[in-house]
Amino acid sequence: MPGQTDFVAVADGLIAGTADAPELIGSRCRNCGVVAFPRQASCAACTSRDVEERRLGRRGTLWTWTIQCFAPKSPPYAGAADHQTKFVDMQLDVNLRAIVLFYRECADMLRAAGAEHRNALVVNMASLAGKSPQPWLSVYAATKAAVVAYTSAMNKELNSEGVKSVAFCPGFVDTDMTEFIRDTVPPEEMLRTTDITAALRFLLHVSPACVVPEIVFQRPGEAI
Ligand SMILES: [Zn+2]
Repeated sequence: MPGQTDFVAVADGLIAGTADAPELIGSRCRNCGVVAFPRQASCAACTSRDVEERRLGRRGTLWTWTIQCFAPKSPPYAGAADHQTKFVDMQLDVNLRAIVLFYRECADMLRAAGAEHRNALVVNMASLAGKSPQPWLSVYAATKAAVVAYTSAMNKELNSEGVKSVAFCPGFVDTDMTEFIRDTVPPEEMLRTTDITAALRFLLHVSPACVVPEIVFQRPGEAI
């Protein structure tokens, strides 16, 4: 990517190589040959633990990808008079600008996938805050509302080419990101990450004739 100088992996053990030629680190089952990413300690297909590391190829067909956007850990929670320009810009960059740039960079691949199977899917991580803005999360909520709007516009632009987009709008999910509110909302009352992946599984199984523009995940009683 032009101007990119630092190569920072989101987590250890996921990506190898260089900024110019990154490689995903997967694994391959020596028993049945199934390749997985991220690298697994045992095979999801046959449960064998005889797996080896496998660097994945750098070319292929793009079927789907998920953009996960997180507000900076601190201090995103600011009142109207307290916003620091730097943190406003960071939230705009990560939550919104990144999505616009990803579509730009991947448009050709998405169109190719759409032409092939009419079911290319982009999952954009918005938030319940994008549907129901909360105090002191105003910038975060505004960026997430923008993600919902951008997703809707992408459906109008790209559906006819077999490319579908969906905005996920979850409330509090039990992850590190909601650590700040565990005293108020106990983790067992939060959404599970498996609730989100179940929705993704559903979307990967619907026909090309079905577009789901957004999914709102609420906790009981958490009506917008
Ligand atoms: Zn296997």
